[in-house]
Amino acid sequence: MGPSAVIDLSALRHNLQRATELAPESRLYAVIKANAYGHGLLRVARALEAADALAVARVEEAVELRKAGIDQPILVLEGFFTSDELKAASHFQLEVAIQQPEQLELLSTHTVSEPITCWLKVDTGMHRLGFQPDAVDSAWAFLNSHPSVSKGVRVMTHLSSGDDLSDPATQAQLSSFQRSSDRFNTGTSIANSAGIIGWPGSRTDWVRPGIMLYGASPMSGRTGLDEGLRPVMTLKSRIIAINTFSKGSPIGYSGSWVCPETMRVAVVAAGYGDGYPRHAPSDTPVLLNQKRVPLIGRVSMDMLNLDLRSQPDAQVGDEVILWGEGLPAEEIAGRAGTIAYELFCGVTQRVVFEEIGA
Ligand SMILES: *Cc1c(COP(=O)(O)O)cnc(C)c1O
Repeated sequence: MGPSAVIDLSALRHNLQRATELAPESRLYAVIKANAYGHGLLRVARALEAADALAVARVEEAVELRKAGIDQPILVLEGFFTSDELKAASHFQLEVAIQQPEQLELLSTHTVSEPITCWLKVDTGMHRLGFQPDAVDSAWAFLNSHPSVSKGVRVMTHLSSGDDLSDPATQAQLSSFQRSSDRFNTGTSIANSAGIIGWPGSRTDWVRPGIMLYGASPMSGRTGLDEGLRPVMTLKSRIIAINTFSKGSPIGYSGSWVCPETMRVAVVAAGYGDGYPRHAPSDTPVLLNQKRVPLIGRVSMDMLNLDLRSQPDAQVGDEVILWGEGLPAEEIAGRAGTIAYELFCGVTQRVVFEEIGA
């Protein structure tokens, strides 16, 4: 008896539609890196057949999609790092981000069978991947004259701070990108989910939503519901034991929580071994019979405890929702000092996945 992750494919399609409504003039790469943010790479790719294109971080993720018969355009956001990856990009007709001189070097020293669609990545302030604005012109010239590169090189950048509408960094990035891209007169891409939701100026030819497709908001202090999104993953489990303890009884590891009165305590079959965050403190809500019930004490590897004082009718076997439908993952993430992205990616192998809404 352990937790299951229910993946609602109709919610996924709804969220794709929502991204399209917010950026109606743009085409869209559905970002499905990291096993589709923990939701299952192929399951999500197949459900997003209506997306113009897909994006992943690494060549091997894209190759897995191609081998499974996915034939939409696929953009590899980090590009290739070895001659084998370069060959695979050509062979499987992947689009690649070109973000460092080493990639130009690989293009110079290896020939490929079919030319590759390239996105020149400009670092406008994220300071992670990309050419600095003063190095973009020479990379642009190189790519546009290279026989291994398809005609029509495009340009892209990535926002560092789009989740905060009051942060001036985003406007500075948009202005910097415009100075670079204006010279090239080609297709551009800037917006992640935060750009799509909060920054109209970032909705250019192509947008790249990730987290919003899974129903969570990237904007700080907001949830997917606020953006008209529906949660795709619901992580649920069951109560496997109920015990009554007297006032003063410590609960769980280190006895960090002590019963203030005689009370019933439930044990739920979900812990950090399933991907429930160990740093979720006492008082983090869990949904039991549609009501929020506080978690108490330390989260263990396989189990966590609930304070049942508000739920006199709760029984062994009752279902609980840890996040998802009725309980935003953003809220649990906030309590645990992380973000919904990390909760989704952290759901472990032993959790059983189920699909609904196909
Ligand atoms: C992950 C990623 C995205 C999607 O970001 P979200 O915040 O999940 O929407 C878009 N572009 C790049 C380059 C990324 O790495």
